[in-house]
Amino acid sequence: VNCAVWFRQDFRISDHPALAMACTFAKQYGSQVKALYFVTPQQWAEHDVAAIQIDFIERHVNLLAQSLAKIGIELTVVQLNTFADIAPWLSEFCAVHDIGVIYAANEPEFNERQRDAALIDASLPLHLLDQDCLLAPGSVQNQAGQMYKVFTPFAKEWKKQAASILIKPLKAAIFEVPIDVPAPIHFSLGDYYPNPVSSESWDCGEGVARDMLTRFLKQDVADYQLQRDFPALEGTSRLSPYLAIGVISARQCITAILYYYPDALINEASPAKTWLNELIWREFYRHLLVAFPRLSRGQNFNLLGNNIQWRNDADEFSAWCKGQTGYPIVDAAMRQLNQTGWMHNRLRMVVASFLTKHLLVDWRWGEQYFRQQLIDGDLAANNGGWQWSAGTGCDAQPYFRVFNPMTQSSKFDPDASFIKHFVPEVADWSLKHIHEPHLKAQHINSMADLFSERAKQEKAYPAPIVEHGFARKRALEVLGALKRG
Ligand code: FAD
Repeated sequence: VNCAVWFRQDFRISDHPALAMACTFAKQYGSQVKALYFVTPQQWAEHDVAAIQIDFIERHVNLLAQSLAKIGIELTVVQLNTFADIAPWLSEFCAVHDIGVIYAANEPEFNERQRDAALIDASLPLHLLDQDCLLAPGSVQNQAGQMYKVFTPFAKEWKKQAASILIKPLKAAIFEVPIDVPAPIHFSLGDYYPNPVSSESWDCGEGVARDMLTRFLKQDVADYQLQRDFPALEGTSRLSPYLAIGVISARQCITAILYYYPDALINEASPAKTWLNELIWREFYRHLLVAFPRLSRGQNFNLLGNNIQWRNDADEFSAWCKGQTGYPIVDAAMRQLNQTGWMHNRLRMVVASFLTKHLLVDWRWGEQYFRQQLIDGDLAANNGGWQWSAGTGCDAQPYFRVFNPMTQSSKFDPDASFIKHFVPEVADWSLKHIHEPHLKAQHINSMADLFSERAKQEKAYPAPIVEHGFARKRALEVLGALKRG
């Protein structure tokens, strides 16, 4: 009897429990390991997976095929449409190849869990392993045996548990003698993805991700607390595209932290504390997705959110998407997303707050747009971030805290170097006008300037779409629906 390992969002051969188990099984029974990957473009389109992320996945599928060939395992890449097509294909595959067990990683999202439950119901020999988080969803609970609804006590308990276990990643799997490296494959995405987007500006591979991690921990982690909020600086790890599709595992990241900062789990003053905390946020949102399946289905965590009367103005939403709101900080951020497929965390918070609070557009619109553009698109983190920003989420930013885009701008891009890069229309504005664009709009509207050539050019950049004080007041009224009781 042979076995299979089904790769999902885990494009690596090191620290891969499912692959390791398959190799152990095959050695024990003197049998073969088959590796599988399913390309499901219709499903991806339904999940709004960004074209850039699919390109990144395609490149990693090819690298994975090469790494597996080096250890004697052939990767079969199967083109289907949706999850529903997998069961009949797998049944036949198991029968033809005498597969006794298929090892794969558990995924936290609702549809993925439904898919796996259906396969198990159909008697497919699927053996699922928890390898997506350091601590498996459901294992970090409060004293009542429930998932935490607030981050800080979750993080405390998470650290306590993490400190009590031996955190040791698995080495890269070793199996048989190498086989021929397969020819590169290209996904055929048909009508679902008519406009491919290249991910070439991001290097590929688990070695690359590990090197980025090491460099970050050696050079930058101690300054992370100070630098992480400034989009003009490279103050964060930029590992999110790799973590989102499992080119590197959370366990590998945390092991590396502990290598350089052995007391990071127990010392509140550890230089790695803040970065570790972000990895715990990642786990928090994944645990939440499993504990509250409604989050995967576009529902408010806080059900009072169902009472919010969103304005959902389609033109304003479109201006936000295009980076044409007249707030340079918001527009620079949206253009970074549109041009690179990635956005700095501080700016994700700024633009999400602007869309949901200043424009009163339903967070689901923004969540979907992000997902369609992001190379690191990840349901748990994206949903968590959007609901946090809108005030509807678990341990969310309170609805009455409305980010002031002008303060955010002057505080986090003080010399406007980030803004000027993405919004060249304002490059020769004074700093005051860049951060407080309503002053500039008045300036243009003054009689002397209105008819000048310069003003005509500058008009290419819109006046602020909404006045901050007015928007803030309106948001407090409308989002007051979130008030308890
Ligand atoms: P670092 O600061 O170096 O953090 C290291 C890792 O920790 C990240 O790679 C990520 O895996 C994790 N992490 C960091 N911050 C968070 C967070 N707030 N929540 C969950 N995990 C976190 N992150 C995604 O990976 N995919 C998304 O689709 C996504 N959408 C977001 C939407 C909104 C509205 C907001 C506010 C945040 C979102 N985030 C998302 C979280 C965060 O912005 C990114 O993880 C981070 O900017 C990635 O950059 P980095 O790798 O340099 O992060």
